[in-house]
Amino acid sequence: MNGKTAVITGASRGIGKAIAIELASKGANVVIGYLNNEEEAYRTFDLIKDSGGRHSCVKVDVTNKDDVKFLVAHAEDCSILINNAGITNDKSFRKMDESAWHNVLEVNLTGAYNTISAFLPLMLELGYGRIVNISSVIGQTGGFGQTNYAASKAALIGFTKSLALEVAKNNVMVNCVCPGFIATEMVQAIPEPILNKIIDKIPVKRLGKVEEVAQLVRFLVTEGDYITGQQFNVNGGLYM
Ligand code: NAD
Repeated sequence: MNGKTAVITGASRGIGKAIAIELASKGANVVIGYLNNEEEAYRTFDLIKDSGGRHSCVKVDVTNKDDVKFLVAHAEDCSILINNAGITNDKSFRKMDESAWHNVLEVNLTGAYNTISAFLPLMLELGYGRIVNISSVIGQTGGFGQTNYAASKAALIGFTKSLALEVAKNNVMVNCVCPGFIATEMVQAIPEPILNKIIDKIPVKRLGKVEEVAQLVRFLVTEGDYITGQQFNVNGGLYM
């Protein structure tokens, strides 16, 4: 990956941070996109700064077009885009107000639309691009209290498959990674009794590690020259 620039959204912590570390270790120049927590982002930066690449942190809210424009100006040579930024706002459908619906769709789905729209022209010009959208097992199975999140993540899979068809001939590969339950702050927000029940249902009987997701993402961007339009599950056998 030497010399290639990878932009990762929501990379100050959790899965995005692990992807940043993994790609930096393979020689990419990493742009750590972060929403608010600059300190956290620079902690990730500190972990990769000696890997040899040209790394940076950029504040970017993926729902804000001006932020995304700034990101593109900062990373004009980006050929690897990892759409990792995501949120949950769980409530049963009958209790879900419109703002919880729109907010989750806006970040998880339209956010990916915004970054891809912005970076795709550069990739087409280069004749090379690798896009990985981080979806979720919930987009495949549904989740109680997660109509908004499941809809956003399922839509991301359809978006990925369709875009892949359109740009494969330009050597731009577009894939989805669907994590199961991974030990991050997002999952720590699930009440313990519910989390224990979830773990009990996972054939591997534990939560996934962020590194286990990051390694798959790295494989797709370094070895995936003939892989596009696919969804890959990292879920301990939860859903096959
Ligand atoms: P996390 O909450 O630690 O990370 C999400 C990141 O997205 C955070 O850094 C947050 O600041 C950022 N973000 C939120 N809104 C944003 C916005 N508008 N613009 C830019 N960045 C924004 O959670 P995580 O578990 O590391 O999740 C990473 C991705 O993986 C998400 O898309 C999530 O839906 C997906 N995922 C996670 C799990 C899991 O079990 N942890 C499972 C399946 C899918």
